[in-house]
Amino acid sequence: MVFEFNYKLTKLSRPLVKDFKYLRLDPSIRDLFSDPPLSARRQPPNLRSLLTSSRLPQPPASHGNRTCNKRRCQVCKHIITDVPFIPPGTTTKIRPPPLTCDSSNVVYLLVCTRCDRGNYVGETGSKFRLRFNNHKQTIRDNTQGFTVGQHYNLPGHDLNDLKCILLGSSFTSQQIRRNSETKWVLTLNTHIAGLNRDLGIISDYTFHNRGGFRGEAQGARPPPFQKILKFFQLHKTKDKALFQ
Ligand SMILES: [Zn+2]
Ligand SMILES: [Zn+2]
Repeated sequence: MVFEFNYKLTKLSRPLVKDFKYLRLDPSIRDLFSDPPLSARRQPPNLRSLLTSSRLPQPPASHGNRTCNKRRCQVCKHIITDVPFIPPGTTTKIRPPPLTCDSSNVVYLLVCTRCDRGNYVGETGSKFRLRFNNHKQTIRDNTQGFTVGQHYNLPGHDLNDLKCILLGSSFTSQQIRRNSETKWVLTLNTHIAGLNRDLGIISDYTFHNRGGFRGEAQGARPPPFQKILKFFQLHKTKDKALFQ
């Protein structure tokens, strides 16, 4: 029997033990009470235990992708959970946010474990899981015109070489998400050394409108990295929302 400690109950255990023999005298209940009772007291809550805790609070992990661990998930085995992570062929140390296969409205990076030419930055407003499955389908079908699909059909490559990492989410608009995608393309140089065809939103608007990058389709080289960075730095001061 366990009681919360109370000075009024201090004398309770003595009669419990002393009078136990009378319970044993009754043949109808004797079998129910084979052992004498044990009494114990636990400490009731006090001001200190109510206000403090001996356990240190565990802060939620602030970095690193995580697997969703759903039984039928087809993304978990591809997702990179390393923190920090350095994409192949680069020296950029990435500390990804705590996102999972279930995240949506994301910018992501695909990397190849077989070589350092398979980096690809993409973005999607819907679930990452859907977009990733589309990439896998282009690999299975070896869809012509899809750089990701074609890369994993190169000699020595297969679907198991495909890994992914989520770089950011919670973008407040499609444009801000695409700005972030372009920032990562530039940072990781995936439009030159990887599988991105162009610079994303820069190619859509800026250089086309300024007439500086139209020749890309005819095989012209993309604008030099430093020139693009300079553009971004200039633009950043005018439009704070460009980077997130
Ligand atoms: Zn998963
Ligand atoms: Zn590769």
